[in-house]
Amino acid sequence: MIRLHRVTKYFGDFRALSEVSLDVKAGQKVVILGPSGSGKSTLLRTINRLESINAGTIHIDGRNLYGEGEDINRIRMEVGMVFQNFNLFRHKTVLENLTLAPIKLKKMKREQAETLAMALLDKVGMRDRAAHFPVQLSGGQQQRVAIARALAMEPKIMLFDEPTSALDPEMTSEVLAVMMRLASEGMTMVVVTHEMGFAREVADTVVFMDAGAIVEASSPHRFFTSPENPRTRNFLKQTL
Ligand code: ATP
Ligand code: MG
Repeated sequence: MIRLHRVTKYFGDFRALSEVSLDVKAGQKVVILGPSGSGKSTLLRTINRLESINAGTIHIDGRNLYGEGEDINRIRMEVGMVFQNFNLFRHKTVLENLTLAPIKLKKMKREQAETLAMALLDKVGMRDRAAHFPVQLSGGQQQRVAIARALAMEPKIMLFDEPTSALDPEMTSEVLAVMMRLASEGMTMVVVTHEMGFAREVADTVVFMDAGAIVEASSPHRFFTSPENPRTRNFLKQTL
């Protein structure tokens, strides 16, 4: 479903990604861990083509993401992304946040887009807030709306970049519950998070990044009980 092959990314002279290869099959959940500045966000952003790359290839569903003539909008429709700071449209209601892209990009009829939006809001427990504006919602509620908004494009893949880092513990569990449900429904997910419980329970593969490279990738059991790389061991010592 997602295949990165020796992806390298520079910001000026600084190498943010160093020959990163990663294979995510349909329905798999990959959790990415690593210290600040290790390239986790950059990696996610390349999968959504929010960043250019300098070398290597990324294929989504067999199509070359950075190939000539690839339609960026089509890719964005297939790959949903959820950010740390929600990034909702502040001057639009919750419902409008969900219907905007399907109407504009997918040419969905308003009525159909609204029916889909209400079903998704129901799914994330936000149906009764459809007419609210983002500022009227808690952080956890905003993030659940952001997840519903990404799902409104009916993506094949969902990318999450520290979706709970800006939330207090109670709101964090609301959001994690929504993500776990999505995972159990078979969504292909790549999640950057510091939530070790989520990594243990949900991940098929845990990937550890350091200095722009993947230094370890294994099952959660193996990752947490017998990490091979000294940098991974050190990281786990600091976080657990
Ligand atoms: P964090 O856990 O703090 O979110 P991260 O692992 O997500 O960190 P990235 O945001 O991917 O790290 O950044 C990787 C490196 O690339 C950092 O050193 C960062 O300063 C650098 N970097 C990221 N974006 C840019 C940019 N637009 N221009 C220049 N350097 C950048
Ligand atoms: Mg980041």
